Amino acid sequence: MTNLERLRASLNGTGAFLVNDTTNVQWLTGFTGTFGAVLLTPDSGVFVTDSRYAIQAEEQIKGLDVRIFGVPRRFTDVINEEATRLGLAQIAFEKSIPYSTWQDWTTQVGGVEWVPADDILRPLRMVKTSDEVGKIREAIKLAEACLGHSVRMLQPGVTEFDIGLDIEFFFRRNGAGIGFPPIVASGPNSARPHARPTDRALEKGDFVTIDLGCVLDGYCSDITRTFVIGPASDRHREVYEQVLKAEVACCAALIPGATGVAVDQLARDILNEKDLAKYFGHSLGHGLGRAVHDLGSLGARSTDIIEPGQVWTVEPGVYIESFGGVRIEDDVHVTPEGPEILSSYPKGLTEL
Ligand code: ZN
Ligand code: ZN
Repeated sequence: MTNLERLRASLNGTGAFLVNDTTNVQWLTGFTGTFGAVLLTPDSGVFVTDSRYAIQAEEQIKGLDVRIFGVPRRFTDVINEEATRLGLAQIAFEKSIPYSTWQDWTTQVGGVEWVPADDILRPLRMVKTSDEVGKIREAIKLAEACLGHSVRMLQPGVTEFDIGLDIEFFFRRNGAGIGFPPIVASGPNSARPHARPTDRALEKGDFVTIDLGCVLDGYCSDITRTFVIGPASDRHREVYEQVLKAEVACCAALIPGATGVAVDQLARDILNEKDLAKYFGHSLGHGLGRAVHDLGSLGARSTDIIEPGQVWTVEPGVYIESFGGVRIEDDVHVTPEGPEILSSYPKGLTEL
């Protein structure tokens, strides 16, 4: 079943739905342009974009009629025509649209009641099709190759900037985009979970955290490993081993029926065996898919239930100011039989 068919099936005769969030439209249709919208009804649907994407839309859009607008016609002129043609009295819309967009739609499209939609797409997007999981797998493969490529630079005297730049080059050279600006955090900088690379040169006795991911064919990867520029101290080992223990246990805990809250709490309980949970301030993980931070959260305020087909990151961390930090992050696909860990880069403590 395609994502378009899945959404149509869940409309349940509720009428017309206008999807225009870029990531949602890409998820729904495979369209890779930056402007497009889908007006979907239970038995028909149109894809609307502007003239810049006319040729691309004909190539990429399957199962929907394509409508193109260009000067002097506006997006809302097309919606007006379609609403009249389909006899629509109501159109549901995504609540995330800007207020100014809502003003345009409600003033420019006549005779239609605009209704904020329930979040129909969230549960659908969280459960990936096998085609989507396949694409995430490919993105992970490339991220792991990049990690292997970057590790050779982890030696005293090399700056975080240079390593970060090399990661970006690697992805671009291999036909991918960067999923997010890579994190390369060494020594005391590794105590900042979202550090950006600086001109600091690596030194002996540093933890170095590398968090990277690419976008390949529209899908993301997101992996973190922490290394030690040797020799490692007892404190390095103690912190690392405890984060690893939490990470391994939480990956294994992603079984259907578990909750995002419980899996997150498990990480904190394990870190607390060594009084380290107080250094873990962020959530355990997030969904992964079309977006790096895709829908879904493993955290204290999560309302998510673990289900087959979901793909999660698991990324516990300990960040100790002026000492350094450790984060280990894998990508996990939930199957009916339990978790399948998609990333396979070695995660034992590596001294370089
Ligand atoms: Zn990450
Ligand atoms: Zn992540």
